[in-house]
Amino acid sequence: MQASATSILIIYTGGTIGMKENPETGALAPFKFDQLLNEVPELRKFGFSLDTISFDPLIDSSDISPAIWAELALIVKNNYHKYHGFVILHGTDTMSFSASALSFMLENLNKPVVFTGSQLPIGMLRTDGKENLISAIEIAAAYSNGKPLVPEVTIFFENQLFRGNRTTKHNAEHFNAFRSDNYPPLAQAGISIKYNFPYIHYPTPSQEFKVHTNLGCDVAILKLFPGISPATVDAILNQEGLKAVVLETYGAGNAISDDWFLKRIQKAVEKGIVILNVTQCKAGVVDMDKYENGLLLKKLGVLNGKDITFEAAIVKLMFLLGKNLSLEKTKELAQKSISGEITS
Ligand code: ASP
Repeated sequence: MQASATSILIIYTGGTIGMKENPETGALAPFKFDQLLNEVPELRKFGFSLDTISFDPLIDSSDISPAIWAELALIVKNNYHKYHGFVILHGTDTMSFSASALSFMLENLNKPVVFTGSQLPIGMLRTDGKENLISAIEIAAAYSNGKPLVPEVTIFFENQLFRGNRTTKHNAEHFNAFRSDNYPPLAQAGISIKYNFPYIHYPTPSQEFKVHTNLGCDVAILKLFPGISPATVDAILNQEGLKAVVLETYGAGNAISDDWFLKRIQKAVEKGIVILNVTQCKAGVVDMDKYENGLLLKKLGVLNGKDITFEAAIVKLMFLLGKNLSLEKTKELAQKSISGEITS
C-alpha cells in the first residue's frame, strides 16, 4: 500500500548527474548513488520519504538498451502502489528515447514518472543537477485532492517539464539540453512551478495500469541525404528480418523521386516492411499530399508519422512489433497517437 507521507522512488541509472572524473583517464564515469544524496542535503527539507534504487553497474546512457527499458518499466510496476511518484536519473544522451519508450510501455499510467539528469555532475559548483533533481522530485510529488498533477512520463530539464515522447536532445553543451518543438511544455519552473493543465493527459481512472516489456528490435532508420547511394539504401532495406523502418525525409515528408529509390521502397512495402515517414525537420508535420515527391511515397504505402520525433518513432515501432499485431493493425496504430506522441 502507498504510505500516507509523500513517497518518491528515485531510480538512478547513471549519466553525467552522478559522474566523477576518473583520475587515471580524466574522463567522466558514474559513481555510487549514496554519495549523490549526500551532495544534495536540501532534499531532506521536503519532508518526503525518498527511497532509491541504483543500477549496478551505473551506465552512461549511450549504453541504454530495450532490455534496460524493460527493467525500468518493471521497477515502476513492482513499486507502483508504494510510491506517489517516480524520478528516473538518466544520462541526457538517450533520455528522449527512454522517456518515449516508457511512455508506451506504461499503459494507462496514473502517476508521475519524471526523467531528469544534468549537463554538469552534481558535485560541481555550477551544476544544473541539483536544481533539476529538486524540481523533478517536487513535480513527482505534486498532487491535488489525491490526484497527481502530471500523471505522464516526462522530462524535467532546465526549468521546463516536457512530455517525454515529444522531446529531442538538441544541445550537448548548454543547460537547456532538450526541446519539444511540436508540443508545449507541461510546466515551467520559476518562483513557483506553473502547470500547463490543458496540455497534460489524465487517464480515465477505470482503465487498468498495464506494463508492456516486449519490444521488437527488427527496426532501422533510413535517413535521406542528397547523394545517398542505392547501395546504402539496400544495406538498410535488405537487412535480414527487417520489419519496420523510420524513413527520415525532407521538409513535409518528401523524398527522392528517382525510380531506383521508389522501386526499393515499393519492394520493401510489398515484403510487409512498415515504413513510417518522419521529417528531418525539428518542428512541423509530415504532409505527403503537399508535394509530388511526398505523394509518390504515400501511393507506395509509406505511412504518415505526422509530427512525431524520430526518437519516439523508432521506439514506437519497437513497441508495436513487440505486440505481435497483424500488419494492418500495426500500420493503423503507427499513424495514431498511442501516448500523446503525435498530434491527431
Ligand atoms: N554521456 C552522458 C549520458 O548520457 C551524458 C549526460 O548524462 O548528459 O549518460
